[in-house]
Amino acid sequence: KRILAIETSCDETSAAVIEDGKVILSNIVASQIKSHQRFGGVVPEIASRHHVEQITLIIEEAMTEAGIEYTELDAVAVTEGPGLVGALLIGVNAAKAIAFAHSLPLIAVNHIKGHIFANQLSDDMTFPLLSLVVSGGHTELIYMSSPDSFEIIGETRDDAAGEAYDKIGRVIGVPYPGGKHIDEMAHRGNDTYHFPRAMMTEDNYDFSFSGLKSSFINTVHNARQKGEELNTIDLAASFQAAVTDVLVDKTIRAAREKQVQQLVLAGGVAANKGLRQALTEAVTNEMPDVELLIPPLNLCGDNAAMIGAAAFVQLENEEFADYTLNGKPGLSV
Ligand code: ATP
Ligand code: MG
Ligand code: FE
Repeated sequence: KRILAIETSCDETSAAVIEDGKVILSNIVASQIKSHQRFGGVVPEIASRHHVEQITLIIEEAMTEAGIEYTELDAVAVTEGPGLVGALLIGVNAAKAIAFAHSLPLIAVNHIKGHIFANQLSDDMTFPLLSLVVSGGHTELIYMSSPDSFEIIGETRDDAAGEAYDKIGRVIGVPYPGGKHIDEMAHRGNDTYHFPRAMMTEDNYDFSFSGLKSSFINTVHNARQKGEELNTIDLAASFQAAVTDVLVDKTIRAAREKQVQQLVLAGGVAANKGLRQALTEAVTNEMPDVELLIPPLNLCGDNAAMIGAAAFVQLENEEFADYTLNGKPGLSV
């Protein structure tokens, strides 16, 4: 079965055609990063305008690359949330129009579920599994007993991991979004600053990154005030070590308690080389019976292919949306 999937929740306009929730026939991603970079973050109005300009072209490109006609589709899927409401609405309305014009069922997909199902495009997800979702807006540990069951067992109390990366990136002057740049710098430095590891020993699966962020910012400001030289490479390495330590520690603990078959990394920060490496090492050494899935780099960030993969489960369950479908900015799994 073939699904045309559409994703416009933030600053990527994307469309994809996915077969049986596994095979990528096409996956077109138009990033708007350049338009937002000079503002140091995503500007919602600019994002919506770009989506309007791009959406039709991107969908046509996805269909052309897949080499199929609309009559050969079985459903149209779209991200309904979470995300920017104005951005979501562009995708939702495009999906409704195509569904109506070609008499196709409409499937509303949760963006975070999509991030998790990116793994289904490169591996086979088996249950029960635990997913560590680390992205620009979310840091969550999600337990899945089956493909359509999602239980948040832990989450950040303040900043998301990606958000913390982007905020400290701004302080040391790397371009938005800072995550990728900090990651590259981190590999050339050492953990000499020893930033705090928040909530490491607490008896829950929650996270907190705002203390780490403040500690980083204070270190930078104090040094600047005293006119001291800053080693930004070591700062990046120290920040990354603190983030990966807490993420890996709590994830391993939760996976052990939940006795899962798989551990599944997901979200934009899943592209982080330090995290991929640390999690791989921890699973190899501490729970060799658990299978670790990490999406390929091109499927970590926002893309429509992952939405098509998640939508396939809903298609099989005949879980369809109607034309009252709306953008849901604060939607949870
Ligand atoms: P959400 O998925 O929570 O709605 P989003 O869609 O905006 O938010 P994603 O696109 O999933 O977020 O991820 C973007 C985030 O990933 C940004 O914060 C970015 O800095 C971060 N990121 C991307 N690559 C890396 C990397 N190599 N290391 C750390 N962070 C990274
Ligand atoms: Mg983005
Ligand atoms: Fe995302």
